Amino acid sequence: MYLSEKAKGIKASTTLAIDSKFKAMKAEGIDVVGFGAGEPDFDTPDYIKKAAIAAIENGQTKYTPAAGTMELRKAVAEKFLRENGLSYEPSQIIISNGAKHSLVNAFMAILNPGDEVIVPAPFWVSYTEMVKLADGVPVVVTATEEDNFKISVEALEKALTDKTRAVILNSPSNPTGMVYTEDELKAIADFIVAHDLYVISDEIYEHLIYEGKHISIASFGEEIKARTIIINGVSKTYAMTGWRIGFAAAPQEIAKVMANVQSHASSNPNSIAQAATVAALSGGREEIETMRKAFCERRNYMVERINSINGVSCKKPQGAFYVLMNISALKGKTLAGKLIESSDDFAEVFLNEAKVAVVPCSGFGADDFVRWSYAVSMDTIKEGLDRLEAFLQKNGF
Ligand code: PMP
Ligand code: GLU
Repeated sequence: MYLSEKAKGIKASTTLAIDSKFKAMKAEGIDVVGFGAGEPDFDTPDYIKKAAIAAIENGQTKYTPAAGTMELRKAVAEKFLRENGLSYEPSQIIISNGAKHSLVNAFMAILNPGDEVIVPAPFWVSYTEMVKLADGVPVVVTATEEDNFKISVEALEKALTDKTRAVILNSPSNPTGMVYTEDELKAIADFIVAHDLYVISDEIYEHLIYEGKHISIASFGEEIKARTIIINGVSKTYAMTGWRIGFAAAPQEIAKVMANVQSHASSNPNSIAQAATVAALSGGREEIETMRKAFCERRNYMVERINSINGVSCKKPQGAFYVLMNISALKGKTLAGKLIESSDDFAEVFLNEAKVAVVPCSGFGADDFVRWSYAVSMDTIKEGLDRLEAFLQKNGF
C-alpha cells in the first residue's frame, strides 16, 4: 500500500503497547500485574473534578483560543514565576493536548529537514520518533549506569556537528528517575549558549522528587532562557493523564510558531480540561504531597527488593516514578526455555511465564534494562517483585 515513508519510519510507542497488552490480558481474566505505563494510580483530586463539572454547567463548552484560554495561560505563567522563578508573558505560553503534543509542536517549530537533535539515552521512547516526525535527525548519546545515567558536557561536545540544533533534557528523567544537580545543569546551559543551540527541557516530573530539588535550566539567566523551550503538564503531578493538558513556555517567536502549528493541527485543547487545570494549578499542595510521599515509599521498597534478588540490580532514582532494572546478567541465559538476548526477550518471557508486565528498554536506547513503574499500589509492587524472585529462583538464580 502507498504510505508516507516518514510515517512508516515511526515506531509504535512501547509503553502504550505494553499497557494495552496488559489490559487485554486482564480483560481475559488472566491474573497479570502491570508496571507498564507511567500513569499515577491515584484518582484526580476532587477539587479539580469539581472545577470541571462547574465548567460544564457554566457553558465553558465552546472553542477557546487555539493556544488556550487567557485565564489558563495566565495561571501557567504564574506557576512558572511562583515555582521556577521564571517570568513569562501569557503570550509565551501554549496549552496543548498533553505534554506529548507540546513536544511535537516544539520540534515542528524549530527543526528544518536534516537538523540534528541530541537525545541523551536512556530516553523516553517518544523523543526520537517526535524528532523524526518533524523531519529532524535524532542523535543518541548514551549515559551509562556508572554515570547515574546523566550526560556530561564532554559527551555533548563529541556529538556536536554543524547540523546540531537542539538538545533534549528530561530531569527528573523517564525512564531513569535521575535528577540533574544545579552544577550539572549549569554546565549544560553554558554548552547550549556557547554553541547557540536550543534546549527542550521536559520538566513534567518536577514535583515528583524524593532527594534533591528541581531547577529549571531556563533559570540560569536570560541567555539560556532565550534558548529554552520548557515542556510541562498536569498528567503526572495532578494524576490527570486522561484530561490531556500539557503546556510549553518558549521565547516569543517560537511560541507564536508553535501556536500557529497547533491552530491548524488540533485547535484548542478541551475547554473543560483547561478550566480544571486552572483549578489544579491554583489549588493547595496537600494532595500532591500525599501522592509524592506514597511514591517515595514505593520507590524505597522497590529498590531494596530488586537489589536483594539474584540476577538483577538497580540504582536508586531520585525522581519520577520509574526504576530501571539491570538485566545484563540474564542475557545469554535461558529462562523458561527462552534464550534471553534482549530486554524484549526478557519482558516477553516474564509476561508470559510470571504474568508481570514491565517495559523493555530497547526502545529507550538501553537494552540492558527493563523499566518498572511504581505508580501502582504497594500490594501490586509486592506481588510483582515476589513473582520476579520466584521466577528467577525457578530458573537457577
Ligand atoms: N514527557 C515525559 C518524559 C513523559 O514520561 C510523558 C508521559 N506520557 C510525557 C512527556 C507526556 O505526558 P502527557 O502527554 O500525558 O502530558
Ligand atoms: N509517559 C508514560 C510512560 O512512559 C505514559 C505512556 C506514554 O505516553 O508513553 O509510560
